[in-house]
Amino acid sequence: MPFLIVSDIHGNREALEAVLADARGLYDRVVCLGDLAGYGADPNFAVEWARSNVSAIVRGNHDKVCAGLESLYSYRPAARASAEWSFNALSAENRAYLERLPRGPLPYEGFDLVHGSPLDEDEYLMSAADVTAIRHDLDTPLSFFGHTHIQGGFLIARNGVKAIDPHRALELENEYTYLVNPGSVGQPRDGDPHAAYAIYSPQDRVVEFRRVAYDVAAAAEKIHAAGLPGSLASRLLTGV
Ligand code: ZN
Repeated sequence: MPFLIVSDIHGNREALEAVLADARGLYDRVVCLGDLAGYGADPNFAVEWARSNVSAIVRGNHDKVCAGLESLYSYRPAARASAEWSFNALSAENRAYLERLPRGPLPYEGFDLVHGSPLDEDEYLMSAADVTAIRHDLDTPLSFFGHTHIQGGFLIARNGVKAIDPHRALELENEYTYLVNPGSVGQPRDGDPHAAYAIYSPQDRVVEFRRVAYDVAAAAEKIHAAGLPGSLASRLLTGV
């Protein structure tokens, strides 16, 4: 029973559709690590897809602000403008869905879903040092996380924390603890503009990291047409 693992779709319909086409036939169930909305011009599409397709999901920080659950005070101008735009663009039903999304960690089928870190849904796990600081508080052998928009994640061994190379399949071993990031579907920030996701097969104990090209120009054009900040469109082209 493989899982499609997606995170940080951010209202990018073109990227989500490309991922679903690329992953067709490879999975039975879908899990999502949050940030359906914010930044992109199609938040309703992403939320409606999630409402009818995901088996398990946690909320992201953008889901909270786009639903009006949290103040925009600490957000940078582009993120703030997109959250305000998304709040108004979302249908009442879709906003209510975002409002009700659970906070991670969410245990599901032998692994945990979190948006930021297992200890704090809003924390960024960017480096091995970030993970080293929390390693003794981790009690689940396998967690999937998002939030950084960087595919890969971290492996925790007795002698230290190592970054996971997303360029090859990850074979899970019993002696390690894993924090695995499928990357961002709708706004990659690891230098590769292709939409990112992962397939996890519990039977084979393998996580496969995948990237797929999508119509970036169309997604960027919609961001411009919506009157959203131009930086949100241009960063899709470079993936940073
Ligand atoms: Zn995000």
